[in-house]
Amino acid sequence: MERTLSIIKPDATAKNVIGQILSRFESAGLAIKGVRMMNMTSAQAKEFYAVHKERPFYGELCDYMTSGPVVVSVLEGTDAVALNRKLMGATNPKDADKGTIRADFGDSIGANAVHGSDSLENAKNEVKFFFPELD
Ligand code: ATP
Ligand code: MG
Repeated sequence: MERTLSIIKPDATAKNVIGQILSRFESAGLAIKGVRMMNMTSAQAKEFYAVHKERPFYGELCDYMTSGPVVVSVLEGTDAVALNRKLMGATNPKDADKGTIRADFGDSIGANAVHGSDSLENAKNEVKFFFPELD
């Protein structure tokens, strides 16, 4: 059993597809152990994405993640980290496999519908970041 962190990004919350995305997680066997709609503060976005600090899109990414409401959730199941990444699809929706969340709901590499932890270690830290009570 693993836990991973998912974020439904502002483009997807604006499209009214929160339920459809959460439903894909559940249909794939991931259980939702925590969920919250929130507006990320600039400080939260900068800290959450600190690993990307040196990348050219860091400022744009932080601005984007604070531009509207997001839904953060903790997903639990067998191989949850990899399974969630598979459901999400490639970072750029244009490259994402058919039937993945990003192919179906993403608009661009920035507005790509969802975030998902990329390793078990990052997942632990990201879950703790938004859901300290579940740690
Ligand atoms: P995430 O971390 O959101 O699950 P990822 O692991 O597929 O996505 P990363 O390389 O970690 O992708 O990039 C983090 C986020 O930064 C991406 O989801 C995307 O929204 C944004 N991003 C990545 N590359 C670019 C880029 N070239 N231009 C603008 N935004 C980008
Ligand atoms: Mg990533």
